[in-house]
Amino acid sequence: MTVRALRGSERRCRSWRAEALLRMLENVLEVGERPEDLVVYASLGKAARDWPSYRAIVAALRELEEDQTLVLQTGRPVGVLRTHANAPMVVSAVNNTVGRWATEERFYQRMRDGQTIWGGLTAAAWQYIGRQGVLAGTYELFRAALAGQPGEGRWVLTAGLGGMGSAQPISAGMLGLSTLVVEADPAKIDKLRDAGGLDAVAGDLDEALTLVRSGAARAVALRGNAATVFTDIAARAQAPGFDVPDLVTDQTAAHDARYGYLPEGLDLAGWHELRERDPAEVERRARESMSRQVEAMLALADAGSVVFENGNNLRVQASHPRAFEIPGFMEAYLRPLFCRGIGPFRWVAVSGDEDDLAVVDGLAATLFPERPEVAEWIKLARERIPPQGLPARSCWLGHGERSRLAVAVNDEVRAGRCGPVLFSRDHLDSAGMTHPKIGTEGMKDGSDGVTDWPLLDAMLLSAGGADLVAVHSGGGGYAGWMQSAGVSVVADGTPAAAGRLQLALDLDSGLGVLRHATAGYPEAAEAVDAPGSDVISINTEEYRDA
Ligand code: NAD
Repeated sequence: MTVRALRGSERRCRSWRAEALLRMLENVLEVGERPEDLVVYASLGKAARDWPSYRAIVAALRELEEDQTLVLQTGRPVGVLRTHANAPMVVSAVNNTVGRWATEERFYQRMRDGQTIWGGLTAAAWQYIGRQGVLAGTYELFRAALAGQPGEGRWVLTAGLGGMGSAQPISAGMLGLSTLVVEADPAKIDKLRDAGGLDAVAGDLDEALTLVRSGAARAVALRGNAATVFTDIAARAQAPGFDVPDLVTDQTAAHDARYGYLPEGLDLAGWHELRERDPAEVERRARESMSRQVEAMLALADAGSVVFENGNNLRVQASHPRAFEIPGFMEAYLRPLFCRGIGPFRWVAVSGDEDDLAVVDGLAATLFPERPEVAEWIKLARERIPPQGLPARSCWLGHGERSRLAVAVNDEVRAGRCGPVLFSRDHLDSAGMTHPKIGTEGMKDGSDGVTDWPLLDAMLLSAGGADLVAVHSGGGGYAGWMQSAGVSVVADGTPAAAGRLQLALDLDSGLGVLRHATAGYPEAAEAVDAPGSDVISINTEEYRDA
């Protein structure tokens, strides 16, 4: 079964708001990893519960009036309710369970019974735009990890060329870094090479190291197991004069010890067979291999590499006693941006017209001269990112910037200079995510695992009239690790859309700033106090003796 998002100016739905959401549902499958199983990315992240649910969602969106709301429960449509013209058109909750039920075993059992799915962050919320979605984040991350040093002549060692992982060599290349990426599945290597994201596929480790360090090829893939290859490189790093990788990380789907990480000693067919026959054994062997990979990463850190986990829960799943000596990427590098509400914003030209993308990109590149890095990113992205699915862009924008851009785009749509555009973001954002081992690790106030924030976010997003509001739960092993809120708002050129874009996007990023100010981050407090700020923070300490 292949799905392709409809392009063009003819719509099937009664409004562009619904049509844009429908095209996004189609698009996540168009660019997804296993569309035949409705799997979009992150090993099992699905767009809908099952095919009957998918077809029912499509039918419901086609008929949906602007004063109605389609209700989705874990990827299955359960009904349409009368709301009002500025209410969300779709609300969705995926895999949320009370704490005592949030176990891996219960998740897998319920998944087998067709009762639940893992919605990823953006899969079931129809916001995934392929590797493009994390390209900007990976770029920001590698840039921060380089600590202001130039990337030229430096190299990254990493693994995983899946839906998200395939962003790594492209982002690194934008910074002048070379990449050696280890991938177990040759089909994933071919896919990225065909998309223009790889310069070379090495036959063995010697060749890979020569290529990447000589600068002969910038993006080099090596077929192999990350645990084995990282261990080999760590052993070589003991030799004097070995040029260690400057950055070391990983994007295998390690969050899932059963389906996401190939254990050493198994080939792909053997892995698939064993995980059906003896899943506990696969998990045991995967965790053992992950521990070896972690051991190698720690050795490379000792040898001088900058090592960090890039949000795949490798440290949690590896159960290596020293795994948490490896820092998480958010706490180590990206939190200062989140404090200012700056995070992974994105837009999609739902007409499918590249010229529409150019209009939005052009505005983004000119509207924020005080942050020249935005224009720099847009220029690089336009030059270097291979297209995937509907024309889309991720771009790290902050509080106030997102709504400013979106409203300006809405004006262009109204003037007929651009087709409708959908604005969204990754769930891993300033207010949208709680994950104590990814987004909210090491929060200053110890609120790492507190899920109030994404829930408040979803409430505010609904109040602001976002077109789609989603609340997901799951994470490592798909249970008990994260809670997130997702949002999509459509610029259809109407004055009502301008109001929704302004409100919903500002509420979202404003809550992100407040959350970090409340947690005690001075950068966030400064953003609250900045001249013209529309965020009012309430300090209960001031009322202590009142
Ligand atoms: P994916 O399932 O599409 O791809 C994982 C890839 O890893 C596959 O190509 C697989 O063949 C490969 N792989 C598995 N085990 C391997 C091994 N032992 N050695 C070498 N290759 C191996 O997953 P994805 O969508 O690319 O996501 C990767 C991870 O990143 C997930 O854990 C996901 O949750 C996480 N993630 C992080 C962020 C972030 O913001 N940092 C964003 C999205 C996803």
